[in-house]
Amino acid sequence: MVEEVAYWWRGRLYSGGEAPPLAVPLKLVEVESVEWLCPKCGERAEWGPEPRCPLCGARCEPRTRVEEVPELVDAVEALERAFNRVCRARFRGAAALEPLGIFVPLFAWRPLDVELPDGSRLVGAYAGKPRFLKRGFRNGSAFELPGNLAAIVWSGFLECLAFEVEEPEKLVELLSASAGFI
Ligand SMILES: [Zn+2]
Repeated sequence: MVEEVAYWWRGRLYSGGEAPPLAVPLKLVEVESVEWLCPKCGERAEWGPEPRCPLCGARCEPRTRVEEVPELVDAVEALERAFNRVCRARFRGAAALEPLGIFVPLFAWRPLDVELPDGSRLVGAYAGKPRFLKRGFRNGSAFELPGNLAAIVWSGFLECLAFEVEEPEKLVELLSASAGFI
């Protein structure tokens, strides 16, 4: 069986040919769901102890439906897959940032606003080693994230993800062109 792949970009699914360059490739997985249908008029009923047709009141019958939904991947996996479509990318590490930390403005990142499949948002990218973490990181010992592209993701807290990519500047340009603030 051939596994189907769809391309996810800002909440929409695309086929390979029409997907924007940074769309995230996601496998489609089959899930079964039960819906309750009226045998007379085909109307769908809300589930309940005895689902009834909202139009004619007849007792509805269950029908198993197979739906294809995109697999859920986290922000790191989504970005790695998206970046891999345009250049080779490897995840090298992550660090939490303080949203209002004094070191964040020192980081000359390009502001973006891109929703990711897991609901987190890519809010900034930076081409170059995220050395600022050496001073900005406070939890535990200070360290430098390896990698040459930093992606800042917001998912309730701010996180810096470092990727090793072939052409970081090109990738930041591409991100800015296709995913800038609306
Ligand atoms: Zn009915």
